This record gives sequence, C-alpha cells and structure tokens, in this order.
Amino acid sequence: MSTSLHHFIGGQAVAGTTGRFSSVHEPATGALIARVPLADRAEIDAAVAHARAAFPAWSHTTPLRRARILFKFRELLEQNADRIARLITREHGKTHADALGELTRGIEVVEFACGIPHLLKGEVTENVGTRVDSHSLRQPLGVVAGITPFNFPVMVPMWMFPVALACGNCFILKPSERDPSPSLLLAELLGEAGLPDGVFNVVQGDKEAVDAILEHPDIKAVSFVGSTPIARYIYATGTAHGKRVQALGGAKNHMVVMPDADLDQAAGALMGAAYGSAGERCMAISVAVAIGDEVADALRKRLVRSIATLKVGPGMSADADMGPLISAQHLEKVGAYIAAGVQEGAELVVDGRTLRIEDDRYAGGYYLGATLFDHVTAGMSIYREEIFGPVLCLLRARSYAEAVELINAHEFGNGTAIFTRDGDAAREFAHAIEVGMVGINVPIPVPMAFHSFGGWKHSLFGDHHMHGPEGVRFYTRLKTITTRWPTGIRSAADFVMPTMD
Ligand code: NAD
Repeated sequence: MSTSLHHFIGGQAVAGTTGRFSSVHEPATGALIARVPLADRAEIDAAVAHARAAFPAWSHTTPLRRARILFKFRELLEQNADRIARLITREHGKTHADALGELTRGIEVVEFACGIPHLLKGEVTENVGTRVDSHSLRQPLGVVAGITPFNFPVMVPMWMFPVALACGNCFILKPSERDPSPSLLLAELLGEAGLPDGVFNVVQGDKEAVDAILEHPDIKAVSFVGSTPIARYIYATGTAHGKRVQALGGAKNHMVVMPDADLDQAAGALMGAAYGSAGERCMAISVAVAIGDEVADALRKRLVRSIATLKVGPGMSADADMGPLISAQHLEKVGAYIAAGVQEGAELVVDGRTLRIEDDRYAGGYYLGATLFDHVTAGMSIYREEIFGPVLCLLRARSYAEAVELINAHEFGNGTAIFTRDGDAAREFAHAIEVGMVGINVPIPVPMAFHSFGGWKHSLFGDHHMHGPEGVRFYTRLKTITTRWPTGIRSAADFVMPTMD
C-alpha cells in the first residue's frame, strides 16, 4: 500500500500542490510504497518566506538557547533510533545495523553543534592602535539550503543543518526524492525539541525545486552532496546567483596494499569498505591497488574466500551483510558496468549478477551480489568512472610510486587508504597524495564531526568542507569591529590612510 508524502513548511505538514509526484520503491521487494510530491518555484517561495520570517527571532536567540534545543533533539534522536533506522532501511535498502550506524554519525554532528556557544567565540585584540580595540565575530547568513543524495538520507542532511541552525540560520532541506521520508521525521523531532516553526523546512522535489533554490535571491548559501555532474552544475549556478556554495561530488576511492601489510587485516577491511551498504557510499573503496603480483594474488585469494560467505538479503534480515541497490535503474546501470568491464578485458573473478534470492517475497528486489574484477587497468571505464555498487576493482601496480601516480592522476579525490606496517611509507603517502581524506590502515577515513569532511578535485566544488570548524565558517560571515571611545577622537578630519599607531 503506498502513502502520499508531503512537504514540511512553517512547522506543518503541507501537501504538494503541483500534481507532479515521484514514486518511492522499497528496494528490498521492489514494491511501490509512497508517492512524493515534487515542488515548483511557488512552493520553494513559500518555504523561503517562512524561513525569512523566522530568521530575526532565531538569529537573536542566544547560542546557549539554540544549543539547548539541539541537546533535546539529540535525546529524541536516541529515543527514536530504531524508528529512524527502519525508515532508512525501508526506503534506502541498507541493513538496519548500517542504518543505525548512519544515524550515529549524524548524531555526532548534533553533539558538535551543541558546543556552538564556544564555537562562535570571536577574537579580540586590545590596543590595535593607541586606545583602539578590535574584535571579530561570526554572524549567521540568513536562509540557507541543503540538497542531499539518496545514499545517506539522515547522515548527509545532518552534516549540514545542525551546524547551520546552531549558527542562527534558517534551513530549507531538499532531500533525495528516492528516500524522502526520514527527513520528514527529523523535521517533526526538531519541532518536538522546541525549534520554532519556519526555522527548518523540508521541500520535496527534483530539478525544478533545485533550480528554484539556486536562483532564489533570499537563499544565501547552498550545501550540496551528490554526483559530480550535478555538483558542478550546483556550484556554477549557485555562485552565478551570488550564493556561497559547497558542492560535494562523486568518488573513486583507492586502497593501496603494500607488501608489508597484514593481508588478513587488509582483506577484511576491503570487504567492509567495498561491499558495505552495497558499495553505495561516497567513501566506499572501489579500487584495491596491490603492490606486486604476490600481494595481488594473496589478496585476491582472501577476497574470493570472504565473498563466498557474504550474505546478501533484505536490510531488515538480521544476518544480511549487504542489502539491495536503491532502484531497478541503478541495478541495471551497475550490471552494464560489469558487462563493460568484461568487454574491456578485465578478469571477472566473482560475478554478482549470478546471485539468486531464494525467498519469493524478495524476488522483485534490486539485489546484486559482491563482484570482483582483477587485472583492471587505468584506461577501463570500470576504473575511471564511479559505479556506486558492490564492484571492487583489483589493480596491480609495480611499485608504491606507480600507485601514488595513479591516484593523483584520477579525476576524483574523495578518500583513500594505505595498508602498511611502514611508518615512513605511510607518512610519505599522507603527504603526497592528492585526496582530501586519507586513512593509514583505516579503510574508510570519514572524519569525525569535530573535524571536517570533504574531498579534493572533482569530489568537491567550493572552498569549505562540511561540519566541524569548516561548517561553522561556511554558515557564518565574519565581522570585525574596531572601537575607539570618545577621549581618543581626533578633533579634525583625517585624509590619510589610518595606520593606528
Ligand atoms: P544525484 O546527483 O543524482 O542527486 C543528488 C541530489 O541532486 C538529489 O537531491 C537530486 O534530487 C538532485 N538532482 C538530481 N539531478 C538533478 C539535476 N539534473 N538538477 C538539479 N538537481 C538534481 O546523486 P544520488 O544518486 O542521489 O547520490 C549518489 C551520488 O552522491 C554519488 O555520486 C556519490 O558519490 C555522491 N555522494 C558524495 C558524497 C561526498 O561526500 N562527496 C557523499 C554522499 C554521496
């Protein structure tokens, strides 16, 4: 049975008015479970009007009081964790345990944002000139927006809005139309935590709503996470309309396995990093670079053994390691990449397309088994492009230097990792690699909430990474105040550049 979803504007559930809808399917079964309305410019205008109206009071609310609402919100997230995770699993497909993990990473950003009274402290210099003092402070931008992808329907919005709200901004979230329900639950919980109406709004939609956001004169900043072509478009269009934009794009993350690495540890790490969440993570490892054939052969043997025991099934099943892909179209796209890899000459060691789900209830689900290619080379499409599925490419490099060159030449620079016991090699790798997030014997080096998340090259357009100190800078603007009290005022006008000595 499918339900009709809604927007959340001005503290209320609001039905869509355009008559345009998108279908939401349950990836585990393929069933149609909801219809999500797609907003037009007028609905974006309405959300912005509510957010603008809420801004003066919210931005004047003390940071301490704003933090208290976030403390309460954090409590509600904990209390509703199972409910939120079930919603994620239902619409996204990832396992329930993985969904809980996603929520935890989001909660950590709320915890970071609870420290906003401290984070907003400015700088003061006494006597920048004789009897003249200077202080700087950071003020909110106004109405800001977030546009988010399907693969983390809770965590990615929560990279954005807790920090934006804590800084005193009002927020409009345009979630992915493929798994839109968790955002509505977050909006409800924010209201329950005491957030005033209009401070946080959810507008469902597609390109039409996105374009209305990018062109709206009262939206001051846009945070985006999604694929690279759209990230590039968001950055170009948003900045052309005078907005501050951070647009995070796609990825192709490499893990280098050095000859001295603990191969059992490296293979175990690769399994989780390549196939967790069916490879639909922007920090998934999709390329393993083995240094030397001996390492490659040993790694391959271990991977094949582990893949044989990997359990693929509906996300709510307790023993599933990996759930289905997000949609029938995506399943087809990933299958086409596998076919292209074979055609381009890579060796298909394990073919996930042969997977069969025994239980008839899930026969219509979008399942694909773990797939492994060996002898992949840099010219192949399965190496160059982001597949975003459970497909791991094994590449054989002759040396450490060749591996570094390969990674640095790649279009994407989101995450990478090196597995080694050699501190010198690890240190050199961290220094030389042109990638934003680096793991040393850590396969998925996602920075904690109090650091900032972001890649390099075509994995991020803009100047600021997300959450952590960079998030606070993105959602505020700096003001510097220079003060002299009357006894210091000069009697006559001064026409030369003030030098404050
Ligand atoms: P997507 O680019 O298709 O969609 C992202 C958002 O953009 C959605 O809200 C969608 O409605 C909107 N959108 C889609 N097409 C649009 C268009 N033509 N014009 C304007 N807006 C449009 O991405 P997705 O498939 O939802 O998510 C997967 C992608 O996100 C992968 O490429 C993945 O690497 C990337 N991702 C990156 C990070 C990161 O931190 N760099 C994190 C998560 C996901």
